[in-house]
Amino acid sequence: MRYVVDHDLHIHSNISFCSFGGGQTPERILKYAGENGFRKVCLTNHFWDELVKGPNGWYEDQDFSHISAAKPLPQSDNVEFLFGCETELRHDLVLGISKERFDEFDFVIIPTTHLHFQDFTVTAKDNISFKARADAWVRRLDAVLSMDIPFHKTGIPHLTTGLISPKREQYLEVVKEIPENEMYRLFKQAAKVGVGIELNSSALNFSVSEEKLALLPYTIAKECGCKFYCGSDAHEEEHFTYAKSRLEKAVDLLGLTENDKFII
Ligand SMILES: [Zn+2]
Ligand SMILES: [Zn+2]
Repeated sequence: MRYVVDHDLHIHSNISFCSFGGGQTPERILKYAGENGFRKVCLTNHFWDELVKGPNGWYEDQDFSHISAAKPLPQSDNVEFLFGCETELRHDLVLGISKERFDEFDFVIIPTTHLHFQDFTVTAKDNISFKARADAWVRRLDAVLSMDIPFHKTGIPHLTTGLISPKREQYLEVVKEIPENEMYRLFKQAAKVGVGIELNSSALNFSVSEEKLALLPYTIAKECGCKFYCGSDAHEEEHFTYAKSRLEKAVDLLGLTENDKFII
């Protein structure tokens, strides 16, 4: 059976510091879920756990009490609204959430590809070339997959995104530099530990000629037996307009079935 896009597990509300306009309330998110026939959505605001030392200035105030202000989340008869977070991985591979804090969340996403925080997630040596960025992509995913964390409720968001390249429109130049044998090694490990791999509608925006390369990590992940979940990464209401159609397109291009679905 074809993979059903019936959930969105990566959504920000207006309390994330990169959400603008104020319209992105939990109620608005629940309405979006209902309109798209989703059964499950998850709030994943940016988060650095105050139990872990050394956030940067941007994360400092996005601590547990800040993101918990969204609770209790509104529910409806048809939609389950989960409480999660999008944490961070520092350049020295320290995770922005403590082990005990996982218990507070239904779902935790760990971005390995936020390479836009100079001197926080990357250092100068990661910027010397596309290859150096590709090395960072491998090193950071490798680090997360080696951690002792509850992978059954952990996702890896937007493995392909403009954020991996210093020039966002050139992110495929970085993807090109990631050795395929490394992708196979990492995704076999991802399948083994049972972490979810995200299809991200904000990041999956490519032309027909870019399709093969843009989807290459996911094609390999599928081949390795990884499970996939969907995320819009919506920060503002307008991001909802194209979310489901792009996810449906990715599902078709990858030929995903219900057997490929990550279930928390
Ligand atoms: Zn992100
Ligand atoms: Zn996000």
